[in-house]
Amino acid sequence: MLEDGEKGAILQVDRQTYAVAPHIPCGVVTPAQLRMLADVAEKYQAAALKVTSASRIAIVGLKEEQVDDVWNDLHDMNPGAAVGLCVRSVKACPGTTFCKRGQRDSLGMGMYFDEEYHGMELPGKMKLGVSGCANQCAESSIKDIGLVGKKDGWDVYVGGCAGARPRLAEKIAIGLSDDDVKNVVEAIVEFFKQNAKPRERLGRMIDRIGLEELTKAVLPEHAV
Ligand code: SF4
Repeated sequence: MLEDGEKGAILQVDRQTYAVAPHIPCGVVTPAQLRMLADVAEKYQAAALKVTSASRIAIVGLKEEQVDDVWNDLHDMNPGAAVGLCVRSVKACPGTTFCKRGQRDSLGMGMYFDEEYHGMELPGKMKLGVSGCANQCAESSIKDIGLVGKKDGWDVYVGGCAGARPRLAEKIAIGLSDDDVKNVVEAIVEFFKQNAKPRERLGRMIDRIGLEELTKAVLPEHAV
């Protein structure tokens, strides 16, 4: 039996079959990749293809002995970081790239964060959400780090999570430029790395040490 996450495979409820869920940065997939996923699912007689909340497409119901062959057949796709203590997912809405309500390029910013941080090992798991307007379609308020695009720049939220003990994120900055918001996110991740206890989420760390400790360390002077 494979360990959870070993070879990018996740054990299913029957305790016999596995799902694999290739990393799909910000949920943007090409027609060729979709065909490849469908072909692989058919070839190995998977039980289902499941679109996940982290913008992946899981191939569900695979046998252990199929897992290596499935990844070989998925060519340019890779497992990414679906489990473990790390930056797990960056969710981004279509923003100004596709959405008529978009105020900021959330997809471009999400892709940047995915490239920079996806899979980065941290004391606890971390999720990012980047929304192109106040509607927050990327659920920025329940992400460890959430961005919301406004006409005059990015608002930054910290400490949100869903799960058994959900917590709404708190807004710590408004109207940041693209460069400033990248720097602030980098500083938050670094602060979390230095100060979080093992398995702690950012919101619980804030509850423990206080929001001010974090904002003092991560915000540029003009944003405070
Ligand atoms: S958050 Fe705004 S920009 Fe993004 S998809 Fe929703 S409505 Fe469109």
